[in-house]
Amino acid sequence: MGKVFFTNGNIIDVVNEKIFKGSILTEDGVICEVGADLKAPEGAEVVDFGGNFVSPGLFNCHTHILMSGEPDGGGNIGDVATIVNALENCRKHIETGVTFIRDVGGAKYYDIELRDAQKKGKIFAPEMQVSGKNICMTGGHGWSMGREADGPDDARKASREQLRAGADWVKLMATGGVMTNGVEPGSPQLTEEEMRAAIEEAHKVGKRTCTHAQGNTGIKNALRAGIDSIEHGFYLDDWCYDWMKEHDVFFVPTLSAMYWIKVNGVEAGIPEWAVRKVNGAFEAHKKSFYEAYKAGVKIALGTDAGTPFNFHDRTAYEMVLMVEDGMEPWDALKTGTVNAADLCQVSATHGTIEPGKKANFTVYGGDPVADIKNVCDCRMTVIGGKVMFSK
Ligand SMILES: [Zn+2]
Repeated sequence: MGKVFFTNGNIIDVVNEKIFKGSILTEDGVICEVGADLKAPEGAEVVDFGGNFVSPGLFNCHTHILMSGEPDGGGNIGDVATIVNALENCRKHIETGVTFIRDVGGAKYYDIELRDAQKKGKIFAPEMQVSGKNICMTGGHGWSMGREADGPDDARKASREQLRAGADWVKLMATGGVMTNGVEPGSPQLTEEEMRAAIEEAHKVGKRTCTHAQGNTGIKNALRAGIDSIEHGFYLDDWCYDWMKEHDVFFVPTLSAMYWIKVNGVEAGIPEWAVRKVNGAFEAHKKSFYEAYKAGVKIALGTDAGTPFNFHDRTAYEMVLMVEDGMEPWDALKTGTVNAADLCQVSATHGTIEPGKKANFTVYGGDPVADIKNVCDCRMTVIGGKVMFSK
């Protein structure tokens, strides 16, 4: 694709917490130069940022691309409808600035096929890492779309199955959750021994592991078993913060998942049992988020997109919620860029705007540091030097 010269931007340096006027030269989708006084080389295609604010490409590190935000969690729709919706969800991500998603659980390995199609340039979608089927205990959270496993040997086999299918991550269900009727967020599910066996298999081949973990006992089981990221984390405590810092475990709080259920409620068609569970844990979750942040736990942005009213065009709103709950705007911007790249182990190529990195940009209409809500005003999305969306 040759050279593309992106000019007239306010470039956001998330690491050094600076915004500077400048241009970015890319070649074949990779950043060559970034600076204030660059000139367009002869023959380069020129793209004008229009004075807007240019962030490193935004990540969403907790999506369910096969789910679309229905009030009741979606239920049984046909295979074709599922894929049609998934492609629509991918488009929504790009049109709201998301350049990279980490999908953490879907039925039938469709997520893996979508990732491969994206890599081949066959679909309009952000870059993806995927998990295949979530691994849960029989009848546990997410069982209807997951792989039920009981006992360490079976959990090990289940993990190997996901890896064989091509998963980038192994997703384990350490506790109950909100959107499965009859299970409680606070109760532990897969045991420490089961998770350890599954995690060993992923780590053996250099893959990472994440866990749906809401209650304190289940969170600790997952941490002791060697998990790499805690999703949701309603009931964290000092022991968890210390462990997570010492072992470099990420926290992906998904504040959005709770928020959209709470603000829509039973009147919007969300089951009463789900609303009850959210209300029961809402304040504890905010407290855990703030304490983890203050303690210095690494936090990455994920929304749990696909859960009720948590649509795939609402990724950036997670940063608004984080700031409302006490995070500094610069730190919120880091969760969706440099931290997310670190979690996904793509820091060598993603997460900042620097020479040598992939030309993924998310362009906002206003300064997000002055007002974090500007992240909800996406003007342009660039993936690999290609303008995927602009308005
Ligand atoms: Zn989820």
